[in-house]
Amino acid sequence: MPGLIDLHTHLTFLDNADAGNIYSNSLVSGAEAAMRGQRRMAIELQSGVTSVRDVGSHGDAPFVLKRLQASGAIPGPRVFAAGQLITQTGGHAALHAIRLGGVENPNAMVRTASGPDSWREAVRAQFAQGADLIKLASEYSQAEIDAAVDEAHSLGLPVTVDAETRYIDMAIEAGVDSIEHPLPRSDEAVARMAKRGIASVPTLVPYRIITRSSGGYYGSTSRRFELNEDTILQMGRKLRRAGVKMGIGLDLIGDWPEYMPGAYIDELNGFTQLGFSKSEALVAATKTSAEILRMGDRLGTIEVGKLADIIVVGGNPDQDFQALRQVETAFVNGRLMLKEGRLFLAGHEEKSMPEKK
Ligand SMILES: [Zn+2]
Repeated sequence: MPGLIDLHTHLTFLDNADAGNIYSNSLVSGAEAAMRGQRRMAIELQSGVTSVRDVGSHGDAPFVLKRLQASGAIPGPRVFAAGQLITQTGGHAALHAIRLGGVENPNAMVRTASGPDSWREAVRAQFAQGADLIKLASEYSQAEIDAAVDEAHSLGLPVTVDAETRYIDMAIEAGVDSIEHPLPRSDEAVARMAKRGIASVPTLVPYRIITRSSGGYYGSTSRRFELNEDTILQMGRKLRRAGVKMGIGLDLIGDWPEYMPGAYIDELNGFTQLGFSKSEALVAATKTSAEILRMGDRLGTIEVGKLADIIVVGGNPDQDFQALRQVETAFVNGRLMLKEGRLFLAGHEEKSMPEKK
């Protein structure tokens, strides 16, 4: 089958996800972030994921990981990288960064910006590193998100946003391409997403983990609303009913990648609770997610002329997602990277030394 896609990763996110430590960018070494990312890429690949969209990681680490994977130097899924997550001073994911002095660190995962020109500059900084897309997060003013989206689109980059309530209205107005998470929004906002072709990556699984482990959602002082396992499913069903394009993303931060492949299977099961059949959930995980990556012509299905991102699993996931627990083989871009369930790296090939003249 075509390789699975995870549209929402933070490959370099710190292992220890306690609130004081989550965004403590100042403590992050770029080398350490890259090594942590390599480990997460290994977990994704062993779970059948052949493409990840990284929506916020430290410094240049996601770009280094992308290049190393593409060259065959490390086994893992192909990486589509947003670079740093951009938010306002004190915005989502930057609540602790200021206290810890992290926003000044070039290895930070979050970049804060204030004012439209500053948001434009933050987008350009990701573009300069080689970003494949831009990731924004609430909070922001209408003028700020308008500037950021305009700049990204001028540079040919799609924009995804992590937002809620009125910030979703602003994001739709600004013309973003996709919206992450199952956070609250009006029925009008759902209808506008459908009408404007704005995709949703509902990321049900992290909110299940949060509500089960914390008894509620306390992730951000600025995000005050009722959120539980029922409300996230209700929002997902509304999006589905409205005809919004929906893809699979897991947002496994901290040590949650250790829940793979169960976390991926849980998200697929979540999609069936939204009204998708098993086959439709797998289409969302492959073909539709490839379209959200703007790679629909090259990834997501097995067809002549497409890139060969192919996995072999021990069973039929159309009937039982548990088959995804036995990913035996994975090719990424036609290159064997998983063999008998283990990471595979082609052996060193000796080159001849220069001949003596
Ligand atoms: Zn995230």
